[in-house]
Amino acid sequence: MADHQLPDPVVQTTGAHELARDLVVIPNRRVDLVPNIGVIGGDHSVLVVETGLGPGNAEEVLAFASEYAKGRRLYLTTTHFHPEHAFGAQTFAGEATYLLNSAQAADLAAKGPGYLGMFRGLGAPVARQLEGVELVTPDLVYDNAYELDLGGRVVQMRATGRAHTRGDQVITVPDVDILFTGDLVETGQFAIFPWFPPYDVDVSGLGWIEVMRRLVATDPEVVVPGHGDISGPQILADVLDYLELLRDETWVRRDSAMNEETIVAEVKALMIERHPEWTGQDWIEKGVDSFCAEHPS
Ligand SMILES: [Zn+2]
Repeated sequence: MADHQLPDPVVQTTGAHELARDLVVIPNRRVDLVPNIGVIGGDHSVLVVETGLGPGNAEEVLAFASEYAKGRRLYLTTTHFHPEHAFGAQTFAGEATYLLNSAQAADLAAKGPGYLGMFRGLGAPVARQLEGVELVTPDLVYDNAYELDLGGRVVQMRATGRAHTRGDQVITVPDVDILFTGDLVETGQFAIFPWFPPYDVDVSGLGWIEVMRRLVATDPEVVVPGHGDISGPQILADVLDYLELLRDETWVRRDSAMNEETIVAEVKALMIERHPEWTGQDWIEKGVDSFCAEHPS
């Protein structure tokens, strides 16, 4: 797609709205490479979830969060290392404590520079937002789970294990039953498989299915996806169903020794037939390619 057809990947804080008491989401307005961003408040601290793409977007988010915090201490976390979620963290240095799961910190260190180059190749509007990006290391790192006390509100942060990336993290706000999933869940679009051999083959559809089974079981009232509209718990089941169907339809063809090109064509047609309203159809074939490389454990 040519540059001019894509809206600039710009976070617009004017669209921010309160989803629950002292919890605001800056919605992505379905703009590509803009994530849903959360600002979660407690008595003495405020947690920001996601930075937006690059330092310019992050400045907007930080300005919004600082005004919202009204002197409360700021924390920052990101759901995974992908550029529109995490490549504005430098802007928060000295202003917020950057807290991450260790697998995500490792992803950022190992693959951050490669993704910076890859994303700069996505066109001028994206490259512009990535000018001056410096990849930073987190201030605090945890391994599996962390409870962040914001004062009168405890937020649960959990590393899910390998799925959309090696270092996915979900964030739960138990008192209002809200789950932030990052790119484990999108609404209105096909699941994003960042399958870019030989540079990145870390996405695991099988791991992702296991993660989704666990998330479905937690049955949250509200789900804030990585991209797309805020949703109820049904979206978790929808994503799980899609991933399982993608796996099954891919494997039944692979196991009958069909060539990969035909597998992609047939499975893609099936999935579009199933979800004609979903965008991001190109991600289906990356999902098929990824599942072709995985085997039952
Ligand atoms: Zn992602």
